[in-house]
Amino acid sequence: MFPTAIAGSLPKPDWLAETQKLWPQWKVRGDELKQAKADATLLWIKTQEDAGMDIIGDGEQSRQHFVHGFLEQVSGIDFENKVKMGIRNNRYDAMVPQVTGPLKLKGRVHAFEAQLARAHTQRLLKFTLPGPMTIVDTVADRFYGEGEEGRIKMAFAFAELLNQEALALQADGVDIIQFDEPAFNVYMSEAADWGVKALERAAQGLTCKTAVHICYGYGIQANVDWKNALGQEWRQYEKVFPALAKSSIDQVSLECMHSHVPLDLLKLLEGKEVMVGVIDVASDVIETPEEIADTIGKALQFVAKNKLIACTNCGLAPMSRHVAEQKLNALTKGAELARQRFS
Ligand code: ZN
Repeated sequence: MFPTAIAGSLPKPDWLAETQKLWPQWKVRGDELKQAKADATLLWIKTQEDAGMDIIGDGEQSRQHFVHGFLEQVSGIDFENKVKMGIRNNRYDAMVPQVTGPLKLKGRVHAFEAQLARAHTQRLLKFTLPGPMTIVDTVADRFYGEGEEGRIKMAFAFAELLNQEALALQADGVDIIQFDEPAFNVYMSEAADWGVKALERAAQGLTCKTAVHICYGYGIQANVDWKNALGQEWRQYEKVFPALAKSSIDQVSLECMHSHVPLDLLKLLEGKEVMVGVIDVASDVIETPEEIADTIGKALQFVAKNKLIACTNCGLAPMSRHVAEQKLNALTKGAELARQRFS
């Protein structure tokens, strides 16, 4: 009951990359970088296991950013000439690569870190990929054409590539493949119209567990300001949950800790496993086990006990390593307390 998992990313050690940044620069190059990524991955596997986590991830130590890590292995993308673009409906600016031609994988994207992680943990292994709609929102398009139609075409093109990599990750022994779709909380109608279909294309043919992570973003200032402007009730999940309930995706995440999401929206996910966010990634304050168990208790009004996974609200990438470690420990202690309370 209540297995514990992270959303995906963890902070990078200061010998690997700049710290507390969303797009950090690597500190070393070439073979040295490859070794440093491997070392950081092993370090976080051990830290997660020591904290008592049930579902382990690679902490996304081998990618600079959760979307651009994938795009680096796609041909048809100009990574040399990045342009400034407002992303997530202009919530903040990012330097993004440009799509300039037909999209094709250059080869495997995440084989190195997935196989490394698989060889070093016996626990359930989750691996994350960006979702098609979120990718489309994090690149500039110079090829697929203006408007909704171009966006949909591009999303399905990316979905095919994601599917190739996802099937290969499954063959590597990954137990859960998660697609990250924060864009679902921004373009709610489009998410319900075609975002979920593109997601299902990305997950087509997978026999391992599949998951989708939808959140209110990392704890950066632009996201904090956005959340403060969303009012007393955050109903963004309301449009996409019914489409996800009907989909083939097994697990769905949502933000619960310190969020204003009305938890009765969970009724819309009937039958799905739910990754309940019980760790706030926008605050350095460490949650108490009581607070976490209380949040799990509230979600249990709407989610079956055997379908609840205790998770972080979002990735921990821009946080300090020390805070992230403490948050992992809090997460497992909180889940343990919830098991005592609700079993
Ligand atoms: Zn997130």
